[in-house]
Amino acid sequence: MDALFPGRCPICDGIRGKNKLICDECRLIPRRVSEPRCFRCGKHTDNPNEEFCEDCSSVKRFFERGTALYEYDSVNDSIARFKNASRPEYAAFYAEEISKYLGTVLKEFEADALIPIPLHPAKYKKRGYNQSELLADEISKRIKIPVRTDILFRIKNTKEQKKMKGTDRQKNLVGAFHIPQNVVKLDNVILVDDVYTTGSTIDEAASILKEAGVKKVYFVTVAIGIDK
Ligand SMILES: [Zn+2]
Ligand SMILES: [Zn+2]
Repeated sequence: MDALFPGRCPICDGIRGKNKLICDECRLIPRRVSEPRCFRCGKHTDNPNEEFCEDCSSVKRFFERGTALYEYDSVNDSIARFKNASRPEYAAFYAEEISKYLGTVLKEFEADALIPIPLHPAKYKKRGYNQSELLADEISKRIKIPVRTDILFRIKNTKEQKKMKGTDRQKNLVGAFHIPQNVVKLDNVILVDDVYTTGSTIDEAASILKEAGVKKVYFVTVAIGIDK
């Protein structure tokens, strides 16, 4: 594969070299989320005396807990290309790192399935892939938890959340997801997404999954913002 389509480095987007998922020069650029972390969402917080970050202490969460690999500002350009510029190949690198550094935590969640945050069909058609699904597939290969894409669907083509404030994000997501079956026979699941910002997407998905009978919803993302 590599010989025919030399893969690109997820950080500089240059040719990354044979049998490598990232080029040597970029190895140290992505910054892993450092301690102390919010006990709920895993975001780094500056206050070691607080169990939860500001967002998690002020909002009711439907998800149980989650974890993320990188500080968002160290990989924001990379993630933008992964989402919007036909770089599905970045998924392998992210999944490799997630499995290496967060694999143990993910296994502790005792999940029956990985569920990628779905894209609306119109967006999927335009992009040609769902980056969260690619991530989930690559993580699944490594930590052996099956991926389920037949449970959670996106029925509302929501606006880009990026520039919205917390409450607008939540409003934008109301009714965004749909679960076709009445009873989902899964106890614990892990939602997979590229970025966690305020948590509204993960929370909206978690709330509908719990309504459908899932006991505990966890999440993993490539990147997460910093508690402000
Ligand atoms: Zn590079
Ligand atoms: Zn938090």
